[in-house]
Amino acid sequence: MYHLGLTGYPLGHSISPRLHAAALRHYNLDGEYRLYPVDPGDDQALAALLGEVRSGKLDGLNVTIPHKQTVIPLLDGLSPLAAAIGAVNTITLAEGWLLGENTDAPGFLFDLERELKLGIPGKAVVMGAGGAARAVVHGLCSNDWQVVIAYRREDRAQALELAGSAGHAHAGTEVRTVLLEAGSLIVECVPGILIVNATPVGMSPNVDSTPWPSGLNFPEGASVYDVVYSPRETMLVKQARRVGLQAVTGLGMLIEQAALAFSLWTGKEPPGAVMRAAAEAE
Ligand code: NAP
Repeated sequence: MYHLGLTGYPLGHSISPRLHAAALRHYNLDGEYRLYPVDPGDDQALAALLGEVRSGKLDGLNVTIPHKQTVIPLLDGLSPLAAAIGAVNTITLAEGWLLGENTDAPGFLFDLERELKLGIPGKAVVMGAGGAARAVVHGLCSNDWQVVIAYRREDRAQALELAGSAGHAHAGTEVRTVLLEAGSLIVECVPGILIVNATPVGMSPNVDSTPWPSGLNFPEGASVYDVVYSPRETMLVKQARRVGLQAVTGLGMLIEQAALAFSLWTGKEPPGAVMRAAAEAE
């Protein structure tokens, strides 16, 4: 019997239980995937929950906002990828050791390739400098993209820039930061760029908001990936599609990161297609 779950706060909107239930059914495994909301700052409750993984009561735990970074000091170790990104979204127990992994970065890259089929890496503007941006920037840098981080708060963007360039200081990779506003972004807007929203702007219930600065035109031939997955079509994606650009929201990334986490816990092939069908049936 697999006891799996997700911690974060708030968790009311999560479709993860449905995705994992479908995967358990598909592989004919007994199990459950439950939500464990833990208030921001309640380190005691977070530590107690991790104790359940350590004792074997829980076989695996996913971590989401706001605990992806705060959970790190409570673990025994990190995978090289989670260490490079500086954020954890999946926890496993390996020979008594609590290990943190990050499946957001490979989940993003997998879905980016499948949905937008961009081929050769080029220039990307990533809006935001939080947990999702860390995974996105790391994924893009490790695939030789030139990344411009568009930030609201400079300290977070600089930390990200450091993380990105320190991990991939090889020829061809470049990470820079600019202010997220029209005047700064206009010079970055060359034809064919990839624009990624890694802020929560546009997420339900604030569905009329967009992170793209008003008055700034999308560059010709740009592609848009919005990591926000609720609503299914965000305002940013609507704006881009309206001018004929290809644009997708992050449901596929959510599914792929979940499939990779499931695979880590159970040893089964990542059940991306099964989870996608479950999400679409909702
Ligand atoms: P986070 O760690 O709180 O970071 C959010 C970032 O967005 C911060 O850099 C923040 O700026 C910036 N931001 C927030 N509001 C803004 C605004 N009005 N204008 C400009 N920038 C703003 O959150 P996160 O974990 O990165 O999550 C971000 C979004 O990604 C959420 O909607 C989450 O659901 C989604 N997500 C999706 C997936 C997926 O699988 N599809 C995975 C992870 C996350 P400051 O630094 O100035 O605070």
